Amino acid sequence: LRGVVAMDGPSGTGKSTVSRRLAIAGEAAYLDTGAMYRAATLAVLRAGLDEQSPAEDITAVAVAAELESITDPAAPRILLDGEDVEAEIRGGPVTMLVSAVSAQPTVRAVLVERQRKLIAEALGTVGGIVVEGRDIGSVVAPDAELKVYLTASEEVRAARRGAQDRKAGRAGDHETTLADVRRRDRLDSTRATSPLHAAPDALILDTDDLSVDAVLDELLRLVTE
Ligand code: C5P
Repeated sequence: LRGVVAMDGPSGTGKSTVSRRLAIAGEAAYLDTGAMYRAATLAVLRAGLDEQSPAEDITAVAVAAELESITDPAAPRILLDGEDVEAEIRGGPVTMLVSAVSAQPTVRAVLVERQRKLIAEALGTVGGIVVEGRDIGSVVAPDAELKVYLTASEEVRAARRGAQDRKAGRAGDHETTLADVRRRDRLDSTRATSPLHAAPDALILDTDDLSVDAVLDELLRLVTE
């Protein structure tokens, strides 16, 4: 796979699984930008801040966070101050706060800049990268070779999120998961800076009735065309 593939969409659409597998199949790098917002949010929590804290304090801690993204699709990881925080960033406290942190314009500006650097590095080494997030096709990499926007109904996304959580040993009932999916969608699509939306030139794939394999087949066909 050559160049940038931008994978956007809300959570629970199978975006991470598809993006990683696409990168592996295409011998490309893989960048999970959500993990960067999550790790910055973990830094905010570790600094003792929460939703009620002043926006300037949240922003200051988030942009100062020492993050390192490892873009190997076989073992993607994110380090905060040199520590692998992959498991912790998927937990409840980070998930509750991440939309508020990622709504801060300065946090976005700083992380977008780092994402563009990581993309340039990958293009200079392996030659291709699959980047997943909410604003990749619209803001981070508007010149991407391929832009994909995955969607699915709230119910299906909550069910997938629930299955993922159970696999990771984080039990949660369906209603709570559904409420969280709805809450994050609302916050992510109504924020002032880079709200979640499909880029006009993105291929929109509704995954309600599509398996991961079917989505992957379709994307592999497109990138090898
Ligand atoms: O994809 P994931 O669920 O890990 O993303 C966590 C949160 O990070 C999202 O709910 C959103 O608030 C934020 N995010 C973002 N822009 C991105 C990726 C993630 O605002 N490119």
